[in-house]
Amino acid sequence: MSHDTPAIAIRDIVKRYKGDKGQEDKLALKGVSFDVPQGGIFGLLGPNGAGKSTLINILAGLVNKTSGSASIWGFDIDDERRNAKASIGIVPQEIVFDPFFTPFEALELQAGLFGVPEKLRRSEELLRAVHLADKRDAYTRQLSGGMKRRLLIAKAMVHSPPILVLDEPTAGVDVDLRRQLWELVTELNRDGVTVVLTTHYLEEAEELCDRIAIINHGELIANKPTREMIGMAREKIVRVSVDKDLAGPVMEEGFTRADVIDARTLEVTYNRDEMTAGQVLAKVQGHGYAIEDVTTREADLEDVFVELTKAG
Ligand code: ADP
Ligand code: MG
Repeated sequence: MSHDTPAIAIRDIVKRYKGDKGQEDKLALKGVSFDVPQGGIFGLLGPNGAGKSTLINILAGLVNKTSGSASIWGFDIDDERRNAKASIGIVPQEIVFDPFFTPFEALELQAGLFGVPEKLRRSEELLRAVHLADKRDAYTRQLSGGMKRRLLIAKAMVHSPPILVLDEPTAGVDVDLRRQLWELVTELNRDGVTVVLTTHYLEEAEELCDRIAIINHGELIANKPTREMIGMAREKIVRVSVDKDLAGPVMEEGFTRADVIDARTLEVTYNRDEMTAGQVLAKVQGHGYAIEDVTTREADLEDVFVELTKAG
């Protein structure tokens, strides 16, 4: 496949869930289009109920779309279903497990389902990759929650797909395990796998993903490299220390907020489209204070997310 063909191309996808009797239909996806480029870690970010799992499950062939199209590694998911399926490994949000197999058996079985010939199977290698080599012959039901998650990732990789999709891989997972999973995902990506993950944790998307798309109420509201996305925040924050105790409010036109942090420290939030940090300082000086120290805090993904989802 050519290098600039997207790993995944999604076009005008609509999903309407039929309501149960008496219930209204639910329009979970309202015409979503975007590309996932090859080679990166792509984050699909959005609050609960945004439509992330619906979209992933359409790619996985678990949910039928109402309209629109998608291709995976250049293969149309309707017209070239087999090739599309062979090109992607999916770790679903819901953990389903057969407790009676060992990790090794679970991988062999999955490889069999994907028609991987015995001599091309790489169960041992995958167990090493997800740091479960020493659990090869343990019963799956005896594995910890974290080990099960790692085994699911190995299961998704048995047919060596170029794309791995993880739906909320760290939802309800403790901090240590989250770090472990991030490392694993980073390692797989370094080995050339294009990764897509959905998350409602901003920190996770910011830390792990090189590109982020934000989905809200079934609509795509942003899709940019992570750096640019963070740079979209219009609000900026400067913290100013002054030479004497603050005597009263320093709110000015153009400030969104002016918070008193302590007797001599003020934090001003302002809209960078309307003024500069220099103008903020000049206004503070206009109240009769000399400025002793200035620090700025860069906006983070959370600031952008709040702005964007508020607008939607
Ligand atoms: P996310 O993964 O972003 O949390 P989902 O794709 O699970 O969002 O859900 C999107 C919307 O579709 C939600 O309002 C959810 O209640 C609804 N939904 C999801 N699955 C079904 C279903 N099987 N039947 C009816 N509505 C559904
Ligand atoms: Mg979900």
